[in-house]
Amino acid sequence: MTIESTFKDYKPAMSDQQAYAEANRCLYCSDAPCINACPTEINIPEFIRKISTKNIKGSAKTIFDSNILGMSCARVCPVEVLCVGACVYNNLKSPPIQIGQLQRYATDQAFAQGWKFFEAGPSTHKKIALIGAGPASLAAAHQLRRYGHECTIFDYKQTLGGLNTTGIAPYKMKSDRAMEEVDWILSIGGIEIKTGIEVGKDISIEEIEKEYDAVFLGFGLGLDSRLGIQGEKLPQVSGAVAWIEKMKAHQYTAQDIAQIKHAVVIGGGNTALDAVRELKGLGVTEVTLVYRRNEDKMSGYAHEWKAAKIEGVKSDFQSLPLRFIENEQGHLKAVECISLDEKLAPIDGSQHQIPADLVLLAVGQGKSEALIQSLGLTHNKGVLQTDAQGKCSREGYYAGGDCANGGKEVVNASAEGKRAAQAINDWLNQGHSLKASH
Ligand code: SF4
Repeated sequence: MTIESTFKDYKPAMSDQQAYAEANRCLYCSDAPCINACPTEINIPEFIRKISTKNIKGSAKTIFDSNILGMSCARVCPVEVLCVGACVYNNLKSPPIQIGQLQRYATDQAFAQGWKFFEAGPSTHKKIALIGAGPASLAAAHQLRRYGHECTIFDYKQTLGGLNTTGIAPYKMKSDRAMEEVDWILSIGGIEIKTGIEVGKDISIEEIEKEYDAVFLGFGLGLDSRLGIQGEKLPQVSGAVAWIEKMKAHQYTAQDIAQIKHAVVIGGGNTALDAVRELKGLGVTEVTLVYRRNEDKMSGYAHEWKAAKIEGVKSDFQSLPLRFIENEQGHLKAVECISLDEKLAPIDGSQHQIPADLVLLAVGQGKSEALIQSLGLTHNKGVLQTDAQGKCSREGYYAGGDCANGGKEVVNASAEGKRAAQAINDWLNQGHSLKASH
């Protein structure tokens, strides 16, 4: 049994009857606010109407036409603040349509039945290099193949799918499901994969520009940020993203997990909230969220924090970690914090210790500034600056996903990858190529 399989889906799949009944509740609004709330602008009333007429294949096609990552987005999207949150039923004081669940119903059937909807276009003999193998690059590569361009995806890791494979909370989606989606996207054919290759080290930018007509950057964010305080190098203090990746890759045994009795997660964003819920789901008795501001100022989704509290997660708000304390055997035993006042100033004498066998730091991720600088691209604190179509500050370079939006959802990455693919196609059709400059 894998560690991931410990988790059940927190939102179980709908039955045929449930999906049919829910689809028939939809009002099929003409100026549907749910569409505007979706970054990929899926025609939601259309795909729901098709479920209501039992045209599930047509429904799935409507979804994938807009969002090739529609299967995973159905599971991982924060629908409460996107499509479901915008449903008109919210104003009618009735439960909103369960759009994510209906999307899952249709896309799961497409995967189960092996329906294929898309083919590569006739070859244009143009080549695009995509750096990073996450959702943005996959969405871009798929769209570029539909135009007939050849694609090569580079990633310094061996795993495809980026954070969708390594970072999604297992109660939303497990890694094997994410990998199934990668295979589904790649089944369009003509997307070459070069993993274990770091651009700028194993292959130079000059080599890429000589061989490829355009470049799409979808390399995501860097390593977990650190606090720089005493005891941080203890092995039981880890970045949250790194720890979740190892957990999902089955690098921890059930015995490893069973030894964690007290866990502390530091941060107030969505990674922190995923981490506390995952630790609780793994059976850790006491999980405490430490955040330097108060509850209302957390950047993580309110519905996730509400669920975490119901699951028994504790909190220490307006609290600043000072150091990690080890026991005589050199193992982490506690986090020492100091309370902060309303102006976030430390309160004298308020030092307190929280027992901990594990600490996860969810205080942000670093940026790939070295690569961005070597490419000579404009950025803002390591976040690539692009126009609305994903065009970077240099001709022939486009970007999408976390490296260009600073860290958003899979659905944003999918939308940005597809949009950039359309812009690359336009640019190539105007006769441009990076190769021309070499
Ligand atoms: Fe259906 Fe709600 Fe969208 Fe209207 S807003 S089309 S009721 S899902």
